[in-house]
Amino acid sequence: MKKSLHFSEYLLFCLRSGKSVNEDACQTMVEFKPDESMPTPADKQETGRDFPTPRIVVSKCMGFASCRYNGLTIHSDVVNRLGARSGVYVEFLPVCPEVAIGLGIPRDPIRIVKLGDELRLIQPSTKSDFSVQMTEFAAAHLSSLSDIDGSILKNRSPSCGINDVKIFPDPGSRIPVGKGAGFFGAKVLEMYPHLPVEDEGRLTNSRIREHFFIRIFTNAFFRRVKAGASMKHLVDFQRRNKLLLMAYNQKEMRLMGKIIANQEKRPLHQVIENYEQHLVSAFARPARVMSNINVLMHALGYFSKQLSHQEKAFFLDTLEAYRNNKAPLSVPNALLKSWMVRFNEPYLMQQTFFEPFPPGLIEISDSGKARDY
Ligand code: SF4
Repeated sequence: MKKSLHFSEYLLFCLRSGKSVNEDACQTMVEFKPDESMPTPADKQETGRDFPTPRIVVSKCMGFASCRYNGLTIHSDVVNRLGARSGVYVEFLPVCPEVAIGLGIPRDPIRIVKLGDELRLIQPSTKSDFSVQMTEFAAAHLSSLSDIDGSILKNRSPSCGINDVKIFPDPGSRIPVGKGAGFFGAKVLEMYPHLPVEDEGRLTNSRIREHFFIRIFTNAFFRRVKAGASMKHLVDFQRRNKLLLMAYNQKEMRLMGKIIANQEKRPLHQVIENYEQHLVSAFARPARVMSNINVLMHALGYFSKQLSHQEKAFFLDTLEAYRNNKAPLSVPNALLKSWMVRFNEPYLMQQTFFEPFPPGLIEISDSGKARDY
């Protein structure tokens, strides 16, 4: 006879049976027999993480200079946390496009105006049109930069915004006809289509922020692989990122494994190029909650024989809290990390999934704007 399961019971069932966690399946009636067989570590290596420094293009007014139209600067928690002053975690490349094209501080505001089918960057007080200057500056500036891992831009700015900039029907109108990207922001999106580009408003959402941090540090790690230019570096990158890739996109993870196997005997530069394309696809969307839970359950399997019933039950409760958005991923991660140390599991310790960016960046505050990416 089948019975209905509570989520933590369902997780216990998955743990014992070695089955994947599935959001739909846990709603159904299932019956299970205890099975104590557990996965064993496939590999063991030394532990230790050494984070690279991502290079981030950032709007200068967010803590770097008082360059806003009114002569002020603005505060951004995420930029401060990443190290606006200290540069601890990332290397910032600040730019103020409006100052760079010769608009002074302070200055009269500019806005995006839709004239016919065209968007123009207009200063209503002078009727000046800065569209060409801004577009040319953006293209030249972004082309001059190298090794970029991502960008954080000021939201709602007609220059820096990436998707929420008001578009007006004429220079004097008070009512916008739509929203879109600013002139500089649009060029960033066009020239860095494979990089994480966010505005500071969206980064107040903890899940968007975490996804962004994961991508910029993964990109910076991969730059090291490219600089090392050896199959050994690439194999090591894939091994350390295995669980993270499993959470993000299992199909891409398997394809990337095949690329590294390189049965076609392609030259190394082609292998790295091909691998990078799939790396970009793998991280295009945030990992789903249930995919993360699957990976956590997979990791729990390493300790299943050593842990007490109460410890496992407590862990499953934290997974349920994470699933219900009542605890961040860092909570079950921290529990697993403590067991990795206690039971000496260096293979898991090396997995970027458990520490994809420096722990000092973990911040559970949230805008409350939820899970839409
Ligand atoms: S939003 Fe962009 S253009 Fe405006 S002040 Fe900030 S950096 Fe300069």
